[in-house]
Amino acid sequence: MSEAKLSIGFIGLGIMGKPMAANLLKAGFPVRVFARPLAAARELEALGAQVETDIATLAGKVDVIITMLPDSPDVEAVVLGPGGVCAGATPGSVHIDMSTIAPAMAQRVAAELMVRRVGSLDAPVSGGEQGAIDATLSIMVGGPQATFDEMAPVFAALGKNVVRIGESGAGQTAKACNQILVAITIEGVAEALALAGRLGADPAKVRQALLGGLAQSKILDVHGARILERRFQPGFKAKLHRKDLGIAEEAAQRAGLELPATKLVYERMSELADRDPETDHSALFTLLG
Ligand code: NAD
Repeated sequence: MSEAKLSIGFIGLGIMGKPMAANLLKAGFPVRVFARPLAAARELEALGAQVETDIATLAGKVDVIITMLPDSPDVEAVVLGPGGVCAGATPGSVHIDMSTIAPAMAQRVAAELMVRRVGSLDAPVSGGEQGAIDATLSIMVGGPQATFDEMAPVFAALGKNVVRIGESGAGQTAKACNQILVAITIEGVAEALALAGRLGADPAKVRQALLGGLAQSKILDVHGARILERRFQPGFKAKLHRKDLGIAEEAAQRAGLELPATKLVYERMSELADRDPETDHSALFTLLG
């Protein structure tokens, strides 16, 4: 497959998928899109995408099928379900799942696609909506080295730091690790800024000072600013971060590893998601009273 000829089918045009598909178009790839609701696909049509109304048909027309869906059951339905990617994809094509799902589901998807001689990579991302817009995502990949190498031009149009972690499921394992760090750090930033305010120190000045020291982090910078401005429109939805911490918890349990801070922040993210599933994960701050 040469770079110019790779045609791409993109399924799932939400906060992340829409700008990612737009970046593939900007990079010159011919892109076909499927979205639910279809209105999201129409926005991409204006940028040059072809809209498909059926997943299997889309899968049969392209070299590479990318999915960017909420959760494991969504990927299972879209890829392995009736009329899905697996049913329509042609042998030799490649499926790249960039959603955050359970490593075990990523392995199952890869195994079932392999039976139909369709390649498969799990390639979840980090960097948020802004990273998706700027094409600066960090992409962590699981799957065969040869397929990873073949898909390099596609990843280059979406992200900056693209790392093959290992075989199928390894990308999702890396993403679970990422989500632990992000959640625990948000809780830390929220608690620090709440304490500053309660003790009468200006939280904005505290953040400014801490950004120059050992506690400096992107979360303190970006999510700290969100907290100071009480700007909780997503971003990254609390219900999705709860899902990700559930994936990490379950994987740890299966491996016989206890992760006490992950467990705690999972409970707090669940409380937030129960209250407002669509709010940004930085709204963990609002649980502190
Ligand atoms: P989102 O809810 O904004 O978008 C998901 C999209 O998938 C929605 O448009 C939904 O309609 C669509 N969808 C669901 N089922 C579908 C189906 N059967 N067919 C077609 N479309 C379907 O979520 P998002 O924030 O874009 O996240 C997508 C994935 O990326 C999730 O796994 C999330 O955990 C991960 N992620 C999100 C961020 C972020 O900052 N938002 C960052 C990194 C990773």
